[in-house]
Amino acid sequence: MLAALKQFGRTFFLVELLKGMQLTGRHFFAKKITVQYPEEKTPKSPRFRGLHALRRYPNGEERCIACKLCEAVCPALAITIESEERDDGTRRTTRYDIDLFKCIYCGFCEEACPVDSIVETDIHEFHFENRGEHIITKQQLLEIGDKYEADIAAARQADAPYR
Ligand code: SF4
Ligand code: SF4
Repeated sequence: MLAALKQFGRTFFLVELLKGMQLTGRHFFAKKITVQYPEEKTPKSPRFRGLHALRRYPNGEERCIACKLCEAVCPALAITIESEERDDGTRRTTRYDIDLFKCIYCGFCEEACPVDSIVETDIHEFHFENRGEHIITKQQLLEIGDKYEADIAAARQADAPYR
């Protein structure tokens, strides 16, 4: 009986509605946290794992020594490498493909690389327009590396104290 009366009182005085209005009112005047993407962007960690790149040394020589550790460690089998020995006795890749549809952006390739060659940049806004473009080639990876080397180096520098 008491419970029924209590329920009637809550219904009669619109208690639930007022509680809802109170919650709405609290958020109505609170600071807005919605980010108007893509005009506004949130900061990204130096560890953000986006599109891949292959890096070079400052003298222009590509870092990759075709050891294939990245290919071996990749859990998605997304990396395909072919290599050959150059005239100077060093080994370099002749093919370095990453299938971006297979890639799960785990970062294992980057962790495995002994010469900081393959890295993941903070680029996350990319798309494909034609069939086959999801396979990113060595040339494309080197171009990304060349273009964003300053950002890549700065991100590694910022993360270095925590490794
Ligand atoms: S990020 Fe992970 S899944 Fe993608 S290529 Fe590297 S190791 Fe493979
Ligand atoms: S990117 Fe690094 S781990 Fe992969 S083959 Fe080249 S040197 Fe080895």
